[in-house]
Amino acid sequence: MTQRILIVEDERAIRDMISFALRRASMEPVPCEDALAAQHAIGEALPDLILLDWMLPGMSGLEYARRLKREELTKEIPVIMLTARGEEDDRVIGLDTGVDDYVVKPFSTRELIARIKAVMRRANPGADGQVVKQGDLVLDTGAHRAFAKGDTVTLGPTEYRLLSFFMTHPERVYSRGQLLDQVWGSNVYVEERTVDVHIRRLRKSLEPHSAAHYVQTVRGAGYRFSTLD
Ligand code: CA
Repeated sequence: MTQRILIVEDERAIRDMISFALRRASMEPVPCEDALAAQHAIGEALPDLILLDWMLPGMSGLEYARRLKREELTKEIPVIMLTARGEEDDRVIGLDTGVDDYVVKPFSTRELIARIKAVMRRANPGADGQVVKQGDLVLDTGAHRAFAKGDTVTLGPTEYRLLSFFMTHPERVYSRGQLLDQVWGSNVYVEERTVDVHIRRLRKSLEPHSAAHYVQTVRGAGYRFSTLD
């Protein structure tokens, strides 16, 4: 699967340069000009790694790194800070915050790509191989794929995350608000009916595999994943 890399950087030239280098390294760049834009992008799909500029307008890179490392949804995502020369003290604070590495500007894109690969190797030593089974469904968390009786279930990124959450938390009812917090993250401001839209899409993806009934509506309460009849 293509690695999705969030670039949070207000300087367009740097954003473009990094995007270009990532694409050439067969990674998917998601350019964002500030923390707010990054939060929106995270709401769309979780990135595999975040490149975070130290000096950002609005919420600073440090503040945002702290926030990412506090949130259940994002705390495992590796963060590489992009700092300017002479910010040594800041870097120490950054590493305290839980950021995984830092790269000093100006950097070569070659160096940056090497750092990204090293951090991802460190962050996901056992990323492949974790398999969750529920009823006829099998979730391969390393490959980010789901299977039904051996056939691939075609899922969008949000539907994958939703199914992944359900399969690891079966037989329990979750309200729309709880699902938003767990699957989208509590920093993301989306309406509760968004949950219904993605539940519908998830059921549609499961339908050809006769597994749509696993995703159950609990009237007045929310949704439950159940393989029991
Ligand atoms: Ca900047």
